[in-house]
Amino acid sequence: MKKAKKQRLALIAHDGKKAEMVGFVKDNLRQIQKFQIVATGTTGRYLEQAGLKVEKMESGPKGGDAQIAAMMVEDGLDGVIFLRDPLGIHPHEPDIFMLLRLADVHNVPLATNLATAKILIRGI
Ligand code: PGA
Repeated sequence: MKKAKKQRLALIAHDGKKAEMVGFVKDNLRQIQKFQIVATGTTGRYLEQAGLKVEKMESGPKGGDAQIAAMMVEDGLDGVIFLRDPLGIHPHEPDIFMLLRLADVHNVPLATNLATAKILIRGI
């Protein structure tokens, strides 16, 4: 029997949320390892240090969010956990809004805080 392809999950965290993301991944490692993980560059490096196998894109401000948004358009993503820092200012705000908008356009499950992230990894 052919092995089912792993679902693909994108993980993105702004600087003020990276520690939360790493904690979340460590606490839910078994569940998260069921997915093929893609991440923006810096988030990805942190997650590798936490023991996760990650396909790393560019850093967010250099286009990583846009690359992940493109995956949603091309049907290459099953879910996104995007821990945004609502108190921070980001030079790539347009890319962030694009990602959020395209998740809704393409009906991709998207979590922007830990409470929803926990539900998402169990629900997709
Ligand atoms: P980073 O990008 O993981 O490269 O820091 C995240 C972001 O700022 O969107």
